[in-house]
This record gives sequence, C-alpha cells and structure tokens, in this order.
Amino acid sequence: MSDFKESLETSLVVASTRGNSEIKTGAVNVPIYLSSTFHQENFDNFGPYDYSRSGNPTREALEKTIAELEGGTRGLAFASGIAAISSAFMLLSSGDHIVITEDVYGGTFRFVTEVLPRFGIEHSFADFTDIDAITRAIQPNTKLIYIETPSNPCLGITDIHAVVELAKSHDCLTFLDNTFMTPLYQRPLDLGVDVVLHSATKFLSGHSDVIAGLAVTKDDDLGNRLAFIQNSFGAILGAQDSFSLIQGIKTLSVRFEKSAESARKIANYLSGHDLVEKVYFPGLSTHPGFDTHNRQSSSAGAVLSFRLPNRSIAKSFVENIRIPVFAVSLGGVESILSHPAQMSHAAMPKAEREKRGITDGLLRFSVGLENVDDLIADFEQSLEIASKQQEKVGI
Ligand SMILES: *Cc1c(COP(=O)(O)O)cnc(C)c1O
Repeated sequence: MSDFKESLETSLVVASTRGNSEIKTGAVNVPIYLSSTFHQENFDNFGPYDYSRSGNPTREALEKTIAELEGGTRGLAFASGIAAISSAFMLLSSGDHIVITEDVYGGTFRFVTEVLPRFGIEHSFADFTDIDAITRAIQPNTKLIYIETPSNPCLGITDIHAVVELAKSHDCLTFLDNTFMTPLYQRPLDLGVDVVLHSATKFLSGHSDVIAGLAVTKDDDLGNRLAFIQNSFGAILGAQDSFSLIQGIKTLSVRFEKSAESARKIANYLSGHDLVEKVYFPGLSTHPGFDTHNRQSSSAGAVLSFRLPNRSIAKSFVENIRIPVFAVSLGGVESILSHPAQMSHAAMPKAEREKRGITDGLLRFSVGLENVDDLIADFEQSLEIASKQQEKVGI
C-alpha cells in the first residue's frame, strides 16, 4: 500500500472524513456541529475548540479537505468568495502595491479600487495574457501579483509558471483565483502560487445553494498569518454551509466532467453558427491561450462566452431560450446564461468594457447537467428566431 497514489477523484469523496477518529458512530458524513462555544473539561488545559469563529469541527473538516485537494497544508473557509479574497488582501500593509489582472472578477475589482486605497494599498492593472505588460507594471513597493485564469468573461489565459517566476524574482507574493477550474483541473500551488482562492459558490458546491469562499496555502507561516486574519476579521463560513459544501465537493468530478464535455460540444456547435461572431473557450485550438492553458490545466472547464452581433439579437436569443436560467453566477447543475454587459460588468464604463471584448452582444454560458443534445437543440431554435429577426430589420 505504501506506493498507493490516490487520485483526486477519490480524494474528493473521502477527504472530509479521513482520519476522523473522534466520530464514534461510523457516520459517513461529517456531523454538523451547531455550537458556538465548547465546554472546557480542565481548568488549565483547554480542548482543541473554544469558540466557533476561531474553530469549528465541521468547518475544519472542509478546510482540511480543500487543503488536501489543492496540495496545500492549510485551508480556510469564509462566508463568501469575496470574503476569502478580501481577507487574503489583508496580508498586505499600508504602502504596498498590487499588480492585478485587468480581467479580474467584478467584486475583486471593487474591493481593490474602492476599499484598499483608503488603507493606503495601491494597485496597477495589466493585461495578464502578456508577461511583459505584467513586468512593466511592477514597482519597487509591489508586494503581490494577483492572477485569475481563465478570466471572466472572455476566458483569457495567464501563464501561471511565468508569473510565479516573475513574482519570485521581485520578492512578491502570488494569489490566484481558481474558481473557474477548481483543484480537479488546475493546481496552482504545485506551480508555486502562494495563496489559492475560490468562490466555492460555483463549481465546488455546484448546486447554487450556498455562498462560500476558500483560501489555501502551502507555506505554514503564510497559513498561520491568514488564519489569524480569518479569526480577526471574522468572515467565517457557518457549520451548515460548511456541510453543504463538503457534500457538493464529493460529486465535483462527475458533475464537472460531464459539464466540461458538454461545454466542448456546445463551443464547437457555436463556432460553426453563422450568427455567432466569436466563441471564447480555452478548449478551442483557435483560442490564443490554448497551449498555455493545456500546459497548466487538465480541462477547458465548463464556462464559455460567445458574441452575437448586437444587443437586440442577444436580447431575442435570451428571450427565446428555454432551458438555461438567465442569471448571474455559474457552476451550478442548471445551465446559467448571463449578459456580462448588464450583469457582472455593469459597473464598467462602456468603452472600457468593449476594449475587453465585453460588447452588448456578448453572452456567457455556464454549462450544467442537462442533456447536451437538448441544450444544443434549444440554442438552435433560439438562434433561428434571432436570425429571422436580424433579416427582418436588415442589420
Ligand atoms: C463568483 C466569483 C467570485 C466571488 O465569489 P462570491 O462567492 O460570490 O463572493 C470571485 N471570483 C470569481 C472568479 C467568481 O466567479
């Protein structure tokens, strides 16, 4: 057994209850410890738990699980993805500078541009598909390079290894938002990234029923500093949501593999459709980040974006599609169609948006678990109506 190497698919299922010797019942699920405080048996020596903000057994099972899945040593669970991300930024101090991808998630953009400057933490945006652009943005006080790959909504790819090398040569930390890939398909700590962050609201939980965030580190000192911030700032994940997330993680591989396979078929279908101007999906060999993504990830994932000619055609398409929900978010069992210009990137000025490819005709699609032939048939009928409309108005 000593050379037995467990696959990640197995770890997803068994990690939460591994070594849980204090569970005397044999329960196959981690108990939900709904207790804010813990009795201390001994006047002088306290037990492993005292108060649930500082530590809760259900949350801890989740934290150990994500640490194991990412190949880290310390996992921490937060009340949302943004709570994990903003807590991680608190590793910085006044006077520090961040180099961050210009394609960053909207909530991260808001925190970095609206909140951190009030605490004396500055930033520069750069095109993270271009390593020279990142290099040029580094200043003497840069302490952090912040990566998101694939990025949202145009699925831009950053070369993780190259950025880690650059960061090390400038004595900077690297954070990476791994929400779109999860540890099943991309393991940034193995490539030298310092802190991996997740919106576990998405693929990890998978059922659109929890808001949760995770952070993972490999370095003990960094892990302790982040745990100190988790306890000091207090944006922890509750025990019930920790349980839901553990259950979601167990089925990640079957869900994500099926969705990713469907996404590939849908991306191919859309690429051949006359009305679709462009398809953004890192699994297409025409995608500029195709080779880089293949080197650092084992799947293209289950999110794609596509550009229709204009807003009215996108509107017609959304109004006539039947299966997906029209909503923000991604990574659920239900397919989710969203309109970035009005949803995730509504706060961005139009010119800025269009420069990044986020036109009024751009739609993002997170592929769920419905039958893929049904999804394609649904796309077909809705695109057909949109095409007729385009002919009628002659645009
Ligand atoms: C949703 C999302 C977040 C924010 O997570 P919440 O759980 O909504 O706070 C951060 N990064 C990415 C890439 C996301 O998709």
